[in-house]
Amino acid sequence: MKILVINCGSSSIKYKLYEMDTHAVLAAGGIERVGQEGAFLKTTDHNGEKLQLNFDCPTHTEGIKMMFDTLTHPQHGAIKSIDEIAAAGHRIVAGGRFAESRLVTPDMLEEWKTFMDLAPLHNPPALKGYNAVKAVVENMPNVFVFDTSFHQTMPEHAYKYAVPHELYEKYGLRRYGAHGTSYRFVSDETARFLGKDKKDLRMVIAHLGNGASIAAVANGECKDTSMGLTPLEGLVMGTRSGDIDPSVFSFLAENANMTISQITEMLNKKSGLLGISGLSNDCRTIEEEAANGHAGAKLALEIFIYRLAKYIGSMTVAAGGLDALVFTGGIGENSDIIRERVLGYLGFFGLQIDQEANLKARFGNAGVITTADSKAVAVVIPTNEELMI
Ligand code: ADP
Repeated sequence: MKILVINCGSSSIKYKLYEMDTHAVLAAGGIERVGQEGAFLKTTDHNGEKLQLNFDCPTHTEGIKMMFDTLTHPQHGAIKSIDEIAAAGHRIVAGGRFAESRLVTPDMLEEWKTFMDLAPLHNPPALKGYNAVKAVVENMPNVFVFDTSFHQTMPEHAYKYAVPHELYEKYGLRRYGAHGTSYRFVSDETARFLGKDKKDLRMVIAHLGNGASIAAVANGECKDTSMGLTPLEGLVMGTRSGDIDPSVFSFLAENANMTISQITEMLNKKSGLLGISGLSNDCRTIEEEAANGHAGAKLALEIFIYRLAKYIGSMTVAAGGLDALVFTGGIGENSDIIRERVLGYLGFFGLQIDQEANLKARFGNAGVITTADSKAVAVVIPTNEELMI
């Protein structure tokens, strides 16, 4: 069975076609500059030939059409006909109260649209992508896979904010979390990798990419996570501040004459590693410059690591203890430096790093990175959100 996975952003469309029996990726590509001048589709065909196809792409519909044309192209295509695709799975950032993936139906879609404001940058383009698929191939089943679903098992004391209750009732103001598709995959994969039943594992999973979050998973269920109403809460990220005193809004409005939207943009796009270092949001660059002695990069790295270690402590409370600390995402899977320094804060949990194993668990290699006599394991597990979808 072939499944097409689609991830639409405001100006981009990423896709992967899977043969589900073997998990083989039959085709993968990305369209950039949707709605702008100079749109193009990039892919590598089945002969390994790299292609860049320039085309006019005023809306997501032209992009989706180009994707299907490329998938079925007589020379470069991975399949002969669109009919070979059993279904499309769409990555959806915010799913509100939906606790599971859903086959898209008119009723379901109407309900989902009421959660649009929870991800104003991500949900509208996903809807455009879905509409475009529907316009090009009417009969293909579409499934929405929500990044928030995995977190719907959080207990009320974890997902509610300490604000007047009517704000939850009226506006759905609560913590929803994100990266749930990754957590679902990684928690299953961790149990498989360690040869344990996930019901017997208390896990703290750190998904560290450009966006970063952490979750407590016990009995196979999410108990708490660091992202909240939006992905701004929690850890220090590439460009996001993570946790901050909400009074910065009034402070900056009064002292720096900034508007709410300017402050929101600053906290989302100009903060985190980028804001502290003044250099870059990219962790590799920060590590390199820190090694060269750049003071801002050194500080950015230390704040990132310290906040992460603090959160691992609090997520251990949420999980009811710690059997496995799991690192995933671009940083979690590759940065031996960050993993080592985070574990340096956690010796009192009985976690001791195995230096050699830590250096080996990189570039897609999974591995336990703690010594055999550690009280819990720390493990690197590469995520695969598209396969999960
Ligand atoms: P996204 O959230 O965009 O999906 P990724 O999961 O791809 O992000 O992670 C991107 C981050 O991973 C970047 O900050 C990048 O610098 C970092 N990264 C990738 N490889 C390494 C590495 N070898 N060492 C340190 N950081 C790395």
